[in-house]
Amino acid sequence: MPIRPKKKFGQNFLQNEHVIDRILAVADLSENDRVVEIGPGLGALTDRLLGTGAHLLAVEVDHDLAALLTERDDPNLKITTGDVLKLDWAALLPEPPYKLVANLPYNISSQILFKILDHRGLFSRLVLMFQKEVGDRLAAVPATRDYGILSVLMQTWYDVKRVVRVSPGSFYPPPKVESVVLQFDPLSESRFTIHNERVYRTLVRGAFTQRRKTIRNSLLASGWSAETIDRMLSANDIDPKRRGETLTLREFAELSNFLTD
Ligand code: SAM
Repeated sequence: MPIRPKKKFGQNFLQNEHVIDRILAVADLSENDRVVEIGPGLGALTDRLLGTGAHLLAVEVDHDLAALLTERDDPNLKITTGDVLKLDWAALLPEPPYKLVANLPYNISSQILFKILDHRGLFSRLVLMFQKEVGDRLAAVPATRDYGILSVLMQTWYDVKRVVRVSPGSFYPPPKVESVVLQFDPLSESRFTIHNERVYRTLVRGAFTQRRKTIRNSLLASGWSAETIDRMLSANDIDPKRRGETLTLREFAELSNFLTD
């Protein structure tokens, strides 16, 4: 291996072609597609993505790896060197829709998801590898330990499916955790009508900030007045003693619409 994997960039390079086959099958690419890969690394997935004839933009923070990738000299490959969290996605991706396919750096996967949510309109499909615990959260249902802010937000705007579980031995170096690939297909509209997305996101965040508290106390701690909370919960027939983590997507939508209207 010419390059020593850098832990600070979450570098675990995929070495299992069967896993890449599954990712490719779900990404369903042709030469008409534009694809974005976050963190191409040594290029195992990159080469297979290019093999479909699709146009690929690869964003890599590690200058050494980006330099290695440029040696490919493929007209369909464009490389941007930089931190994907700091780049201006709207400027970088002027011709949507794109498919986003990546074995994500696990240390920043949640931040990447929030950024994806802020730029939902850019992507027609996401096929992403996560640490298994994060994947479990994204696909979780209400009233479970795994259900959290990103479960609600991602499921509000996407159909979320598990594609394949991936063992540590599929990577070099092997990570300490299991991994999972998930597929996200954008819904044409949010799953339940939401009148104001900002209010919805603030409410969801507030409901989960203190998981052990009741929904009433969590929202109080997040700054809403007792009067507003009590009116909202009673108008929507929600027991104030319930915990935020028991609320369904529909209930979050209804509560946020009450706050908006
Ligand atoms: N795609 C390769 C593979 O599957 O073998 C590498 C995946 S590795 C888990 C994550 C990759 O993301 C690394 O190449 C790492 O350098 C890159 N990376 C880490 N943080 C990044 C960031 N903020 N912006 C862009 N790329 C980043």
